[in-house]
Parts: sequence; C-alpha cells; structure tokens
Amino acid sequence: MVSFNNTEIAFRSKSNAKLRKAYYLFKLMGKPTLASAGGKLAELAFSLRLPIGGIIRKTVFQQFCGGESMEQCALKIEELAVSNVKTILDYSVEGKASEKDFNRTMKQTLASLDFAHKNENIPFAVFKITGVARFGLLEKVNYGKTLTETEEQEYDRALHRISKICKKAAQFKIPVMIDAEESWIQDAIDGIVEDMMKVYNKEAAIIYNTLQMYRHDRLDYFKRIHQDSKHNGYFLGMKLVRGAYMEKENERALKNGYETPIQANKDASDTDYDAALKYACENIHGISICAGTHNEKSSLQLIKLMELYEIEKNDPKVYFAQLLGMSDHISFNLAEDGFNTVKYVPYGPVKDVLPYLIRRAEENTSIAGQTGRELNLIQAEIKRRKK
Ligand SMILES: Cc1cc2nc3c(=O)[nH]c(=O)nc-3n(C[C@H](O)[C@H](O)[C@H](O)COP(=O)(O)OP(=O)(O)OC[C@H]3O[C@@H](n4cnc5c(N)ncnc54)[C@H](O)[C@@H]3O)c2cc1C
Repeated sequence: MVSFNNTEIAFRSKSNAKLRKAYYLFKLMGKPTLASAGGKLAELAFSLRLPIGGIIRKTVFQQFCGGESMEQCALKIEELAVSNVKTILDYSVEGKASEKDFNRTMKQTLASLDFAHKNENIPFAVFKITGVARFGLLEKVNYGKTLTETEEQEYDRALHRISKICKKAAQFKIPVMIDAEESWIQDAIDGIVEDMMKVYNKEAAIIYNTLQMYRHDRLDYFKRIHQDSKHNGYFLGMKLVRGAYMEKENERALKNGYETPIQANKDASDTDYDAALKYACENIHGISICAGTHNEKSSLQLIKLMELYEIEKNDPKVYFAQLLGMSDHISFNLAEDGFNTVKYVPYGPVKDVLPYLIRRAEENTSIAGQTGRELNLIQAEIKRRKK
C-alpha cells in the first residue's frame, strides 16, 4: 500500500534551499490575516503600478506556478517527469472579459495542445469556460433567458472557440478537462460540455467535465449523465473535485434567499466524493476519471477501489491530480508506486495570475490542517536530511 509519509520521495526534487523557502512561505500563509491582507495589498500595489512583481515572482509564484509562459514551464515539466509525475499546463489568467482576452485564452489552450502533442509528459489540456466566454452571458444562458441578437452572436463566437479547442484535442487524442465554476453558470457549462462529449467522446473520453462534490446534487447528476452516455453511445470523462467556491456559494444563497447548493457539512462532501469514486470504478468501462484532490483518505480510497475492481495502476482511465506546490507527499508517492499522477502547472504573467495565487494562499489558511500538514511534512524532511 502507498504511504504518504515518505518525505524523502515527496521532496526529492527540492534542494535544501528550496525546501527552507517553502517552509517559510507556508508558515507565513498560515497566518490568515497576513495572507488575506497580503493578497489585497498585492492587488492594490499592481493597480498603483508599484514594482512588486519581483517579490511575488520569488515567493508565491515560484511555489505555485511553472512560469510566465508555456516555454518557461519546460524546466518544471522535466523536474516533475524525473519522478514520473506528469503535467497539465493551466493558463491561469483570470478575471479578463474582452473578446480579445477570450481569443488569447483560446490561442493559449490550442498552443498548449500543440505543446502536449510534442511532449509525452503532458497527458491533458485544461481550460475554464469563463476564459473564453463572458460570465454574464453564461448566466443568462444558465437561466434560459432570451439573448439579444448581439448576444446570440457573442454566444456563437464563444461556442466556436470551445469547439475549436475540443476539435483539436480530438485530432491529437489529447483529453481536455473543462473546469467547474460557480453554480449559477454551471448548468450552462454542463450543457456545452455534454454537447462536446456527444461529438468527440465516441471512441474514448477526450472531453472531461468537472463534478464539484461539495454540491448535494452532483452524485445524482453523475449517475444521470452516465445513463445518458450509455443511451447515446459516448464515453464519459469526469474530473472529480470537492469545489473551490464554497464561501461565495453560501453567501449568495443567503443573500438571495434560496437554498444553498452546498452540502450540509464537510462529512457529506467527503461521503459523496468517495461515492463518486466508487461509482466511477464500478462503471470504469464507460467512465474515465481524474481525482483532483489533496485529501489523503480519498486518494487511499481510490487505490483500494482500483484493487477491488481490478483496475491496473497505469490504466489511462484513472488519474490522480494535485496542484503544483501542494501535497507533494501525495503526488510523488503515488507516482513512485506506478499510479498515473499529474500536477496542474499554472502559468501566465505574474500580475494576471494573482487571483489564482490569492485563492491558493486563502486555501492554505482556511482549510483546517492543510498548512499545518504541509509544514509538518517539510519540517520532517528538513530534519531527516540533517540526520
Ligand atoms: C487538479 C485539481 C483540479 C481542480 N479543479 C477544480 C475545478 O475545476 N473547480 C473547482 O471548483 N475546484 C477545483 N479544484 C479545487 C478543489 O475543489 C479544491 O482543491 C478542493 O476543494 C480542496 O479539497 P480536497 O479534495 O483537496 O480535500 P479537503 O481539503 O479534504 O476538502 C476541503 C473542501 O471540502 C469542502 N468543504 C469544506 N468544508 C465544508 C463544509 N462545511 N460543508 C461542505 N463542504 C465543505 C470544500 O469544497 C473545501 O474546499 C481543483 C483541485 C485540483 C487538485
């Protein structure tokens, strides 16, 4: 059985200096007020054009991102590949909303497919629908509101961008994952992804949707869409995550007086997450999954399920995925044992990936035990090396 306690394997790629740096970074992020004030200050400093790019580049950016461009990520990809950990390049520029920005994201995603086509260490591509389509437009579509003629044209352009990415992914046979986002645009996203799956997943799962198991309706949706895939003859691709927008979801539901889509408690999210893993393994012939999680229990659960359902460790229908700079003890130990393991490697100009970095800093303070766990592991490895 894989052990996540082996820090030698987990941090093999980190020099002593890099390890110490990571230690101080997680220690700083562990202070919630500092982490949240730091994020706001950084945003303000960028808007005032203060020269803070250098500091961010040498700290959080270096920990959580691969580089400012795809080419700059090459070293990181190699470094991971030495330990058999693969890469998913993630153009993490967020909060942009012009047609120019949407075209740029589409081009970056198409280029990432070209890059992956030439590099066996990149088994997937990924993008967010809000990277290529306007949020407000998706919200209107989500609620079935009538679009104006101009909006219809805008929506057609967005669909065209998405189709272009999916078509290229199919042509190269490189699966592409589509991230899950806020629940008030997720029905629109699901609709688009389902349409793409019907076209491109006829022979294998090329298009992957994402299920956020912190929503109480997702397990039912998973089963429903699986029946649909059987009925309509296509393969299902699913990334399974717990979900990143819990506070925002709860706040909006409270403010607008509707029932929150979020589970009643963390246990319920965990139970549904593991149930979704089980459902996928039971139906592995028609479903490919990528377990995007930093949860040790769920990762071990998936290993057990793979044994139970006699799924090979390197079966391309099952991948484990973590974010760069987090939970290396899970990624590197899984990869060492022969399981398919990938890291999301975000990239983009420092200023533009700031929202992503702020989310990581917040995640590392708000999730109980997460920072403590990273810190303990790094500390244990520093001690081990001294011995
Ligand atoms: C490779 C990868 C891809 C990802 N892609 C996406 C994506 O497309 N969309 C997206 O939204 N997120 C995505 N995420 C982020 C992911 O949702 C968070 O990393 C995740 O929520 C952290 O949970 P965990 O599974 O690591 O486990 P844990 O740390 O055990 O769980 C923490 C999570 O549990 C849930 N939770 C916490 N408290 C409660 C509560 N009181 N009630 C109900 N639920 C609770 C929340 O989702 C919280 O984030 C991705 C993560 C990875 C690693």
